[in-house]
Amino acid sequence: MARLVMKFGGTSVANIERIRNVARHVKREVDAGHHVAVVVSAMSGKTNELVGWCKEASPLYDNREYDTVVASGEQVTSGLLALALQEIGVPARSWQGWQIPIRTSDAHGSARITGIDGSNLMDGFAKGEVAVISGFQGVHEETGRIATLGRGGSDTSAVAVAAGIDAERCDIYTDVDGVYTTDPRIVPKAQRLEKVAFEEMLEMASLGAKVLQVRSVELAMVHKVRTYVRSSFDDPADPRPGTLICDEDEIVEQQIITGIAYSKDEAQITLRRVADKPGVAAAIFMPLADANINVDMIIQVVSDDSTTTDITFTVPTADFERAKVLLEEARDKIGFGALQGATDVVKVSAIGIGMRSHAGVAAKAFKALSEKGINIRAITTSEIKFSVLIDAVYTELAVRTLHSLYGLDKA
Ligand code: ASP
Ligand code: MG
Repeated sequence: MARLVMKFGGTSVANIERIRNVARHVKREVDAGHHVAVVVSAMSGKTNELVGWCKEASPLYDNREYDTVVASGEQVTSGLLALALQEIGVPARSWQGWQIPIRTSDAHGSARITGIDGSNLMDGFAKGEVAVISGFQGVHEETGRIATLGRGGSDTSAVAVAAGIDAERCDIYTDVDGVYTTDPRIVPKAQRLEKVAFEEMLEMASLGAKVLQVRSVELAMVHKVRTYVRSSFDDPADPRPGTLICDEDEIVEQQIITGIAYSKDEAQITLRRVADKPGVAAAIFMPLADANINVDMIIQVVSDDSTTTDITFTVPTADFERAKVLLEEARDKIGFGALQGATDVVKVSAIGIGMRSHAGVAAKAFKALSEKGINIRAITTSEIKFSVLIDAVYTELAVRTLHSLYGLDKA
């Protein structure tokens, strides 16, 4: 019998009526002959409430006790879903991370899964029992303490369980019906993708498409877990198709560009009149690296006098102020004329595996954007994506322009 993992997020288990609906989705797969492991999040809003209580009790809280508290949200929903399943005649039991066990590192609050023992779950399947697993949590075995995986971590739990029991698929039920070519709120002509390659999804998730936690996509890619994003609000008797995230070999008709993403989480820094000599780039970027600030796009322009240069780069908006302070501190060492910054910028990216085998894909975009009067402040490219940094006011126009340029508009 094929094994299946089904994951339901916070909005899908927000109250008892919705948990009953989840139970009906699970029953459908059990009736179809699957051995099912369900992974659940806490009821929506619950984790925030628990985090708030920790901070109220102790502003500089002990992360181990924080984990004890926040892991409880998932314990509640796993028990409730097991009850709802039993109520409709489906044998089920709940599993906490430490009971399976799901082993983790000791980085409390953002632990990594180090291994999963699937044998207990398999024993349950042999008895015809659905396993209802608390997402987001595991155990650090050396200390025996509960650890959580970081916010949004139950996606990662689900993919890890799927890898651990060698499941045929990991179905992620959420409040959207799949992954779209771009944000449908900006481009009404955005389409649901039938399939996306792991690499593409990883880029899309890191570049702003918020369907899945980035770490869960990394894990799915490493273990080749076919992951299916679909809506939990469909009629359990007649669900609509979603989006399959899979190996590129499974995708027959590959478009050149699969999706357009954007991120407002970028800030631009320009250093004017930097001495044009060896060691300057290191003097600028080493202090940022040491402070764990991720520099993304970098461009260097030789200025008129050819003894100085201008360097522009981007950092996450959250690190903008810190980066400016660090650069001012290193001003004498670097030797620059002026520091300018901008936070009203956006990074728009086009992603597609087809870029590997087609030339001129990005050039076409630069032309289309210039025809709309959009000035490009910086560019980066990699094998399967390119990004442009532009003024934030042009976000919608740029995303729409690229979406139709690459033939992604719904007919
Ligand atoms: N309940 C946890 C959170 O809100 C984990 C999850 O929902 O994925 O972050
Ligand atoms: Mg989530």
